[in-house]
Amino acid sequence: MSKNKNYVVGFPRIGEQRELKKVLELFWSKKCAFCEVERVALELKQRHWAYQRDAGVDLMSINDFSLYDNMLDMIVTLGAIPKRFETLTDEELYFSMARGNKDATAMEMTKWFNTNYHYIVPELSLEDSYSLNATKIINEYKEAKEFGVNVKINIIGPLTFLGLAKRQDGGDVYELYSKILPVYEELIEKISLLDNDIVVQIDEPILVKDLDTKVLSLLKRTYDKLSTISSNIKIALVTYFEHSNEATKILVNTPIWALGLDFLYGVENKESLEIIAKSDKKLLAGVVDGRNIWKCDVEATSTLINSIADVVNKEQLLLSTSCSLLHIPFTLKYEEKMDSEIKNWLSYAVEKLDELALLTALTFEEDLSCEQEELLKENKQANESRNTSTLIHDKAVQTRVQEITKLSRDGIYEERIKIQKKQLGYKDLVTTTIGSFPQTPAVRAARRSFKNGELNKADYIKEMKNYIDGCVAFQEECGLEVLVHGEPERNDMVEYFGEQLKGYGFSENGWVQSYGSRCVKPPFIYGDISRPDPMSVAWSSYAQSQTDKIMKGMLTGPVTILNWSFVRDDMDRGDVSKQIALAICDEVDDLQNAGIKMIQVDEAAFKEGYPLRESKIPSYERWAVRDFKIAVSSARMETQIHTHMCYSEFNDIIRTIEAMDADVISIETARSGNELLKIFAKVSYKQEVGPGVYDIHSPRIPTVEEMVTQIESLLEVLPKEQLWINPDCGLKTRKWEEVKPSLINMVEAVKIVRATIA
Ligand code: GLN
Ligand code: ZN
Repeated sequence: MSKNKNYVVGFPRIGEQRELKKVLELFWSKKCAFCEVERVALELKQRHWAYQRDAGVDLMSINDFSLYDNMLDMIVTLGAIPKRFETLTDEELYFSMARGNKDATAMEMTKWFNTNYHYIVPELSLEDSYSLNATKIINEYKEAKEFGVNVKINIIGPLTFLGLAKRQDGGDVYELYSKILPVYEELIEKISLLDNDIVVQIDEPILVKDLDTKVLSLLKRTYDKLSTISSNIKIALVTYFEHSNEATKILVNTPIWALGLDFLYGVENKESLEIIAKSDKKLLAGVVDGRNIWKCDVEATSTLINSIADVVNKEQLLLSTSCSLLHIPFTLKYEEKMDSEIKNWLSYAVEKLDELALLTALTFEEDLSCEQEELLKENKQANESRNTSTLIHDKAVQTRVQEITKLSRDGIYEERIKIQKKQLGYKDLVTTTIGSFPQTPAVRAARRSFKNGELNKADYIKEMKNYIDGCVAFQEECGLEVLVHGEPERNDMVEYFGEQLKGYGFSENGWVQSYGSRCVKPPFIYGDISRPDPMSVAWSSYAQSQTDKIMKGMLTGPVTILNWSFVRDDMDRGDVSKQIALAICDEVDDLQNAGIKMIQVDEAAFKEGYPLRESKIPSYERWAVRDFKIAVSSARMETQIHTHMCYSEFNDIIRTIEAMDADVISIETARSGNELLKIFAKVSYKQEVGPGVYDIHSPRIPTVEEMVTQIESLLEVLPKEQLWINPDCGLKTRKWEEVKPSLINMVEAVKIVRATIA
């Protein structure tokens, strides 16, 4: 294997058996000492370096590891500690910032670009002064050296750090540039003392967004400076998830050593190849997918690599993962129950390392070893099997998609709502909830026992019906007007439907870090999607049979199902979404035929799927709206369609939301008073809206008075005929002791407001 021809942006850290999660949670519940956390952490780092070394990776990352989050690590490194944590000891500080303590609320967390990873948001203020703390980096460097591997140091770059930060007073974060940059300079200087020759990987994913000229203008200054601090430092500037052509043009004129570009999610990066070829930069070409779980098609990827190598010199080229492997699960090793044909199409982080090695050999070596020849053959076979397998390709689904003619429901909103109001007879300020009620330990236990065969189907159904009975009884008692069954049968709003759809796969151990110690196990869509049987009808119609009030049916929408799954890469996302939409469309029809008069199609993750680049937004919106409409196209005029979205900021997408044409939308504006609702009035939004009158994310029980005030403030924005009154999201994470008084108060508040406006 030739040296320095491959590159791994970063490796997952939670552990293939979630060791880090487990030890952190023990430590947080005071069941082990911190030295135990450190011991496990070191073991994991070493294991991960060993995996990479054994796969022929040349440079191992350090500081891609973190006990909680890399952004939080950077906050500590730069000494950007918010005031409320300043008095804490070193020991308390880190996890207090991440998770809060009795005196101070945790720092905010938000999504890392369009992934499902969440980072801690730096809180900056003009009064701040920053100072370097390089302890973690230096220690990890020494650990890796002692372990005997070649090392590069990963840090998050200053433009991204600032770009993702928030300033307390809402001002421009880049005004802090002149205070932050010197700390970075000091950091590089300190690193330069560690060894003769050191690669520092600086992640600047912010460069893949549409940047204003101000940020771009800082780019040259920053990297001219950081690249010339010491002659033994080589800077690899890495971007991912999109293209960064504007930035590339600037960066080739700075003294950085290498530039990392994503050629899978940012194919436009190919347009920059000419200028890179003319420069002296190395190109870290991201060609192995760090965001998806499919086995790489080595032949197709070789074609991509050749097209890159046609422009840039092979001497300049290194093959890389498209981004950190943080966003995919660890290893297929523990997938013991998975269908072997399907498993053969997959590749997790450890397997991706071998793909990278094989591609590197194919690109740079004269001959392959026998072992590599074998791997290549296996890869070809796996991809051929994917191209032809009947598990994937379902003619009936494809024909149906091609022949689809009904793209939306009958009637315009104005006509529909008249019929609905007459038939459904609900009052102004009608009360409802978003769907789920508390998931009690008993319900979870019943689902688990049913799944592993300890509980038989009849008893399981009895348990669930029991829960539904209680749930319906409570809603009637407290006077809610549109009821729900409570979703006791659902572990997760995507998994529940995925499990019943053909073309969906599930892993046993495919955990991906979401934040801190939390992991999710996204299902994956491997084939054409169809719905063999109704999925929710039995539960909803049972619940309806227990009450004279309206029972709202509850489904997850196609865009959310897609956005919370790993999606097949042999088809456009929009085409996959369309297949899911047709399955949901059948479910809507079955529900209404079973007597369900209102159906909520949740699109909790609609906004999450938005592309990073503005130019790509219209095409996303086009198919996302199209498929929501297809999903509800079977609804008759009198069947009322609701949707729910877990956001409050609709300013940028209000026209798109309007185009989805749901009769009712419930949203998450409880925390912003009526401020964020105003956009609905501003654009003369016609359909009905349930803005959320209290925040379900906190255990606090809202008082009647505060909800009266909240409802009154909503009425300042929208007329009573257009408003629904509900909590701002599902209640499954809350306890009954919290939910009951909260909803009783909510209903009471509505009574008071109705009396005053009558
Ligand atoms: N109907 C779902 C629930 O109530 C919606 C969940 C969500 O918005 N994330 O749990
Ligand atoms: Zn929600």
